[in-house]
Amino acid sequence: MSPLGKILFAGKDQKVAALVADSLVGYHTEQAASFAKLEEKLESFQPDVVIVSEDLLDEGALARAEKMHSKYPRAEIILISPAAPQLGQNQVLETGFSHWLRFPFDVEFIQFAVADCMRRAVVVNSEAGDRIILRDEMDFVLSEISDGVILIDEERKMALANRTACNALRLNIAELVGKPYDEALSHRTLLSAIRGDSPDPNRVEILGEDESYYRVTSVQIKGLGQLVTLHDITYLKELNRMKTQFVNTVSHDIRSPLTSILGYVELVKRVGEVNRQQEEFITQVQDSVHRITQLISEVLDLGRIESRLDKNFAKVSLYEIAREVLVNLRPVIAKADLTLAMEMEDRLPDILGDSIQLRQLVENLVGNAIKYTPAGGTITIRGRSETDQIIFQVEDTGVGIPLDDQSKIFEPFYRANNVSEETEGSGLGLAITKTVVDNHRGRIWVDSKLGMGAMFTVVLPVYGR
Ligand code: ADP
Repeated sequence: MSPLGKILFAGKDQKVAALVADSLVGYHTEQAASFAKLEEKLESFQPDVVIVSEDLLDEGALARAEKMHSKYPRAEIILISPAAPQLGQNQVLETGFSHWLRFPFDVEFIQFAVADCMRRAVVVNSEAGDRIILRDEMDFVLSEISDGVILIDEERKMALANRTACNALRLNIAELVGKPYDEALSHRTLLSAIRGDSPDPNRVEILGEDESYYRVTSVQIKGLGQLVTLHDITYLKELNRMKTQFVNTVSHDIRSPLTSILGYVELVKRVGEVNRQQEEFITQVQDSVHRITQLISEVLDLGRIESRLDKNFAKVSLYEIAREVLVNLRPVIAKADLTLAMEMEDRLPDILGDSIQLRQLVENLVGNAIKYTPAGGTITIRGRSETDQIIFQVEDTGVGIPLDDQSKIFEPFYRANNVSEETEGSGLGLAITKTVVDNHRGRIWVDSKLGMGAMFTVVLPVYGR
């Protein structure tokens, strides 16, 4: 068990030292029998509480005590004096001792004084120097901030979670303090952020139980543990939703005039002879309109999936969905002169999902593998289950993705640097895919080296998990 706190007894009297050590069971206590030793131990032992005996301070006691305070504001300091102390009450208080005990005293007094100091001593390091903030104040500050804060101690146990974090994750911190963090917390994405194995650590987002969205950041603080913050980004999501809604409305309204353009262009050829050049121009117009129509239907797809309008979840087999998609794509794969390797377990467990969205996911990943792999290459589709997860992978031997672009390709309209303007595409396919994965409480990431192919991995929870 970890000690309740570190206590440094500074005094020469061995009887008092023994009394202190015996009274403070569960604490880690050390002794400094001279003022020089005390100064040294303040640095090396870093105590939470110092109990200093007046005999150690000798003459110039106050000056020495003040020096100690200014040099080491971290420690709460308790003064122990003989029955007839040299120091007066006012002097003791002004010097900033937290408690003053005079002989003879009961062990309970020292236990109380130490417990009180431990409760109050929370240290904030600022650029202007250390400042001690009372723990009650700190609790209040933490509970008032809108971001979630979780502290995991160096033994990987829960030390603290503020009100926002408790609401977001439905935690009862009173029951969880001291428990291993991976027992106390169950949110998968959060756990992988804490473990540091998120595919993209700079962009971890979770949907809380309070229906708010949070961006998770996690930092290791030496001597304290791991600080996890949940930054509320619900308003950004809302802005994004409004933008999507706007784009959707515009896209929807553009559709009808486009259909009309296509119709009339078709008619041009029917109403009279066109020469070769006119025919060529008509084909150009048709191609361009087709491309815009394709873009618009992808924008609308993304909007629909993001707003979860067509969320129609049931028990589905990813194996079946992938098989059907591949049957449809086989001719395209053959035409592109690519080899398809299917390495999926046919007994892949079912998942809870929307079959239309999942079909789109497989189509996008395999479609990209086809598009970005030169003739002669291979596309490998893998599917396996691991404990309560399904791991689905699409790997190709194509052009690959530059490292700098890998974290951005899941954003709408983003296309990597190594893709030429001529390569058809809108940059929306992976944004749709990522939204589908998020809707299914899964994770997606890419492993790739420029010119050496790309491997997309999707992890989804098995049905019932
Ligand atoms: P696009 O319509 O451009 O293919 P996506 O959203 O599907 O849009 O993909 C975004 C970008 O990610 C692509 O433009 C491309 O740069 C890169 N990309 C996606 N899949 C692959 C892949 N299999 N190999 C190489 N690059 C890929």
